Amino acid sequence: MPVMPAAFFGHGNPMNALEKNRYTEAWRAFGQAVPRPRAILVVSAHWYVQATAVTAMPRPRTIHDFFGFPRELFDVDYRPPGLPELYEEIADVVHPTWVGADVDSWGIDHGAWSVLMHAFPDADIPVVQLSINALKSFDYHLQLGAALAPLREDGVLVIGSGNVVHNLGGVSRALPDSGFDWAQRFDQQAKQVMLTDPTEVGRLDGHRDFDLAVPTPDHFLPLLYVAGVAGATGTTAEVLVDGYSYGSLSMTAYTVGMDAPSSSGSGFAAPLPEGPPADGANI
Ligand code: ZN
Repeated sequence: MPVMPAAFFGHGNPMNALEKNRYTEAWRAFGQAVPRPRAILVVSAHWYVQATAVTAMPRPRTIHDFFGFPRELFDVDYRPPGLPELYEEIADVVHPTWVGADVDSWGIDHGAWSVLMHAFPDADIPVVQLSINALKSFDYHLQLGAALAPLREDGVLVIGSGNVVHNLGGVSRALPDSGFDWAQRFDQQAKQVMLTDPTEVGRLDGHRDFDLAVPTPDHFLPLLYVAGVAGATGTTAEVLVDGYSYGSLSMTAYTVGMDAPSSSGSGFAAPLPEGPPADGANI
């Protein structure tokens, strides 16, 4: 079985699931370029809880964990199989870190499916999610990512899905396809670290724009898992696609252990629906 790469995706707002733009085209190109995985392990910003757990149900449900979006987004039913036995393999490789088996609480959230619908549209590859433990340090998440690296040799594609810069309170509808200066500074610094020494990514909390770029850690932490895989395998990341949305979101995506495929998509990240500000909309 080929050794799998790992990847981080900036998923932006969930409408990207239904749209076609230069980001979704890059996600699609990634899915077409990657060797077929035995399973996909997703670390999504949207499963941010006070425990480290892995979904272990045979038929995970599609979770619509947002509000204020059109009906068609709630009708999405991306239903790949689960792979309950992967729980044991994960528990083994991360030992002595403890990880729980979730058989009935989570499923596949929009951080996962908004990207996977483009990268793996047939939904025929098992998908398992790993929660982000909100009680743990950056070092814990980096080390857990590093511990997952051996799974690559058993056909497991590790994916992080979040946004390097994610400040919903700062969203500006006047900037649909660009970033504030602080967002660009932080994203570019993160890029420099990912492309040279990914294990240093946890130190970005010392960057002067960190508090604006990462007002809550949930969307940033998936990057640490992919950085951990890179560090454990002595490699660095490549940029799959980059850009900004509404001033305060970066859409940057990275591959690790694989040449980032080129893609020729065009267009902004998905627009936000009309209505109240996005802050609090759980995107
Ligand atoms: Zn999100």
